[in-house]
Amino acid sequence: THFGYKTVAENDKASMVADVFHSVAAKYDVMNDLMSFGVHRLWKRQTIASSGVRKGHHVLDLAGGTGDLTAKFSQLVGDTGQVVLGDINSSMLKVGREKLHNLGLVGNIDYVQMNAEMLPFPDNSFDVITIAFGLRNVTDKDKALRSMYRILKPGGRLLVLEFSKPEHEILSKAYDFYSFNLLPTMGKVVANDSESYQYLAESIRMHPDQETLKAMMEEAGFEQTTYQNLTGGIVALHRGFKY
Ligand code: SAM
Repeated sequence: THFGYKTVAENDKASMVADVFHSVAAKYDVMNDLMSFGVHRLWKRQTIASSGVRKGHHVLDLAGGTGDLTAKFSQLVGDTGQVVLGDINSSMLKVGREKLHNLGLVGNIDYVQMNAEMLPFPDNSFDVITIAFGLRNVTDKDKALRSMYRILKPGGRLLVLEFSKPEHEILSKAYDFYSFNLLPTMGKVVANDSESYQYLAESIRMHPDQETLKAMMEEAGFEQTTYQNLTGGIVALHRGFKY
């Protein structure tokens, strides 16, 4: 199979990520608000502001899940533009599609199941690609970044919104306590699923820090790469261009 070259550990990760998101899909939006105290809305707003998306653009919201960014992009690109909400997980896509339909957002959004590591589009297809809280779940991040680079149009940009490394030690300690103790407990109480939220905490700790991710983007071909720390570096917004 096309998975034949992967190691057992890699297959484990992919199927664990699938289990996690099938399990949390229905409660995903509620948990997001609860766990981030609503702050994920600000992080996403900042992402939109840095995206440069305008009328007529083709946008890919990769690992788009329940479609918060897609909703905003759909309004920005208008009738002449197109937004693709791409996600590997059918449960997340289903919740996203229902939510955006209920908001009356129809006509310029496609919902496509896809793996970030092998994006099913021709070269030079998109003006903007975003991946919000998605990259850390991807098994081969370098491969995924190269795939994103390939399908961006020259002049296009990638935005990666992701958990990162807090700038100060005190914040870092408080945040570790929060993510390894409080977060799984909240997952247990609200979603009856502490394991998924344990995975979340571990995946956040394992994810590359600001400078490492910046270097990975450059390695994949991106230029003028920069990042902006949000909430003291708990989250970082990376940006890079294809020329
Ligand atoms: N972008 C949304 C947001 O910010 O609310 C959803 C983020 S959610 C934490 C992560 C999403 O990444 C899930 O919907 C999951 O299915 C998706 N995902 C995980 N691995 C993926 C992969 N290899 N390719 C595409 N999507 C993936």
